[in-house]
Amino acid sequence: MAKTARKASKGTAKAAKKKSTKAVKASKGKAGKMIYFFGAKKCDGDGTMRALLGGKGANLAQMTKIGLPVPPGFTITTDVSVDYTATRKFPEGLADQIAANVKLIEKETGKKFGDPANTLLLSVRSGARDSMPGMMDTILNLGLNNETVVGLAEATGNGRFAYDSYRRFIQMYGDVVMGVQKVHENEHEPFEEVMDGLKHQLGITEDLDLTEEHLRELIKRYQQLIKQRTGKEFPQDPMEQLIGAVAAVFDSWMNERAIIYRRKYKIPDEWGTAVNVQAMVFGNMGDDCATGVAFTRDPATGEDVFYGEYLINAQGEDVVAGVRTPKPVAEMAHDPGFASTYKELEKVRATLEKKFGDVQDFEFTVEKKKLYMLQTRNGKRTALAYVKIAHDMVKQKLMKPEHAILSADPDALSQLLAPIFDRKAYAAAGKEGRLLTTGLPAGPGAASGKLVFTADKAEQLGSAGESVVLARIETSPEDLRGMIAAEGILTSRGGVSSHAALVARQMGKVCVAGAGEIVIDYSKGTLSCAGKTLKEGDAISINGSTGEVFAGAIDTADSELKQVLVSGTMKPEDSEVYQYFAFVMKLADKYRRLGIRTNADTPEQVRQAIAFGAEGIGLTRTEHMFFEGDRIDAMREMILAENIEARREALAKLLPFQREDFEGIFRALEGRPATIRFLDPPLHEFVPHDTTAQKELAAKLGISTSAVAKRVAALHEFNPMLGHRGCRLGISYPEISEMQARAVFEAAAKVQKDGIKVRPEIMIPLVGFKKELDNQVEIVHAVAKQVQQETGQKIKYLVGTMIEIPRGALTANEIAETAEFFSFGTNDLTQTCLGMSRDDSATFLPMYTEMGIVKANPFASIDTTGVGQLMKIGVERGQETRPDIKLGICGEHGGEPHSVVFCHEIGLDYVSCSPYRVPVARLAAGQAALKHGK
Ligand code: PEP
Ligand code: MG
Repeated sequence: MAKTARKASKGTAKAAKKKSTKAVKASKGKAGKMIYFFGAKKCDGDGTMRALLGGKGANLAQMTKIGLPVPPGFTITTDVSVDYTATRKFPEGLADQIAANVKLIEKETGKKFGDPANTLLLSVRSGARDSMPGMMDTILNLGLNNETVVGLAEATGNGRFAYDSYRRFIQMYGDVVMGVQKVHENEHEPFEEVMDGLKHQLGITEDLDLTEEHLRELIKRYQQLIKQRTGKEFPQDPMEQLIGAVAAVFDSWMNERAIIYRRKYKIPDEWGTAVNVQAMVFGNMGDDCATGVAFTRDPATGEDVFYGEYLINAQGEDVVAGVRTPKPVAEMAHDPGFASTYKELEKVRATLEKKFGDVQDFEFTVEKKKLYMLQTRNGKRTALAYVKIAHDMVKQKLMKPEHAILSADPDALSQLLAPIFDRKAYAAAGKEGRLLTTGLPAGPGAASGKLVFTADKAEQLGSAGESVVLARIETSPEDLRGMIAAEGILTSRGGVSSHAALVARQMGKVCVAGAGEIVIDYSKGTLSCAGKTLKEGDAISINGSTGEVFAGAIDTADSELKQVLVSGTMKPEDSEVYQYFAFVMKLADKYRRLGIRTNADTPEQVRQAIAFGAEGIGLTRTEHMFFEGDRIDAMREMILAENIEARREALAKLLPFQREDFEGIFRALEGRPATIRFLDPPLHEFVPHDTTAQKELAAKLGISTSAVAKRVAALHEFNPMLGHRGCRLGISYPEISEMQARAVFEAAAKVQKDGIKVRPEIMIPLVGFKKELDNQVEIVHAVAKQVQQETGQKIKYLVGTMIEIPRGALTANEIAETAEFFSFGTNDLTQTCLGMSRDDSATFLPMYTEMGIVKANPFASIDTTGVGQLMKIGVERGQETRPDIKLGICGEHGGEPHSVVFCHEIGLDYVSCSPYRVPVARLAAGQAALKHGK
């Protein structure tokens, strides 16, 4: 018996009791209920109980309730798993309850667990609240042993089937429960190796050619392998097998790949997984049996077609693992043995969409012509499929509009902006004969990069900023790291529902699967096809929309959406994608309360952001404007000025540039508001630090090189991020703020005179004391007054501040006496709240994330418990003084879905993010309002 299982079943009664009380308290269902049964005679759960029963368990119950043919079984709740993860023991009474529920299955099926004469076999599967495909463990055919296998062979009259089931069970159990696994990434699975050894000995290539006798030999060798590797016998007692399997599935919640997956998809560790134990049905009893996976619509394109695959005489994992290449489900209609099953499946397809209100991804098995449903869940889909399905199903009244918004992964929308191959370069590659082969199109988009064969290499090159394409014979969940790091994924084996394809689609990665003509040799580090051989590091390009694989690099080009919205090279009416996208965006806008602004520094960026749906600018970083062309010279002259007159002279040169910039921005905004921030970075960022450049500058300015060097040295700071920057600059050099204010108001007056509305909002950075803000606001008002008098234009404007250091948040009530708006600068607020340099954190933060010290990178997703508290304090104290104070965020977090939801919850008026994140923020804001109310 496995270590964990033994520990689990022993457990001291006292500890178990204490913990089981806790589980009862935490339970979202009936008090103390650890197991929910589903069957024709009794069904305890339903589809609403995802938190307690996991997605799979809840949907099995729901399918049972609506009369779909589901084999009976039971679900052990997520509360039990949470409890088990904390204590490493089963709660008291669980083993007894498991036994009692097995009895119920026996009653429904008329079979008996462990009885050779009429044996009941079980499957044991994980099932978290959100599906985590392939990340946790599954065990099938449980209950087989040296005796029941004989009974099964007799009862079915199919010895080959019985022994094949047994060898599969030993293999899974040996791997998952007893830990007989490969040691290196490029090693074969130990059980596969034993099987290959036997096949080689017998001169056989196909698994199907193994006879009953061969399988009996294989079973013997498998049992020997287990004994050799673990020193233990393969367990013969079915109940011992079941307890071991349940414990192993609970354990798999904490395996490395599941943890990585949860980090990526922000699934809390505390959710735990349910365990589903269900009567087995067999797709591998003969040629009137089959197994398959299907989607009610195409998950890659969203087309309303029945999409999926099936394999005759096979078990479920054969389809998912991609070991044999299955047939498209549509072919079933023309398969004489299965035509009636196909008709039934078509009905199931319609029922599922109607009852579950979304595209379903389901598994089925046909046992001797009878159809069984093994699971269903909302189908993962590409962003393209998401917008099309949302559009179509809402219009068909099959999906609730609220669900269309709530079910989306806002981050995935950026996939729609993903590159495609440059048309000319693509055509040229074809003409040059660089097409190697065509596999299955499994994840749309185009990727071009260096060829790598291992997850390690992909990570290594990927983190160095290289574009890589990861090629594997087939992928397993261990490859997840590499898949995250790669631009594209290529496999030589497996179908469109293989692990590689599923995971790639979900991550928005380009993927070509099952390119069977390709030969990958891991030991030589080569990929060969069509007489060509590529080595690791060679360029390769793949088209995940068509399945094509090309040798060499191909330039990538803008997506359709970008062509419509940004470059204007395509008309909206010519792009279906655009229309679906626009439908979803409009829907999100209907629900959201948060305004969406953009961080933009140029008229070009402003126009892009508006095309994506931005309603104004939340941050213009004016310093970015000083780096262009020869402006930097005037800027440097200003910085190096010895006295105020010289500085004013240099600033006068900068004024027209700034005015022009603001004019362009106001025009591009067409009446929308613009938050313009005054100079923020320390001055030494603008001056040259190497001698050659200092010499050049000295010559330009007509001063000595040593004078330049001296001033540069004087500007040196030990800790620039906490040094002479932000409002501290404007306070030391008020003439800089004067110039910037003048540029804003003169530009505003000019544009307003042309009949375009302007709404400037001047923002002072890095304020921690009310008096800092007062100092700068006085300058702004004085200049505004002057310019209004000079131009005769009355300009409506606001003056506010960034809240980006803790003291600013804590004294927000004082600051709000002067500030008409706050914008949370969460980049600096995170840096200063955590005392963690935003520019230096890359050296240790990834480790922090890996170790679980932080849940996510706090510079990407708001640390709601720490930084979030400061924001809440800022909001509350600001509103105490000025109830109608305008509140926004302009740190990078403004475009990150979780942070957007948080901003909604604390009552901000808007979020601001980079132009390409605007669609993501719109969708996240719609979700926030639906989840938490307007
Ligand atoms: C911030 O600190 O969040 C901010 C927007 O300012 P910057 O990133 O320019 O420091
Ligand atoms: Mg800042």
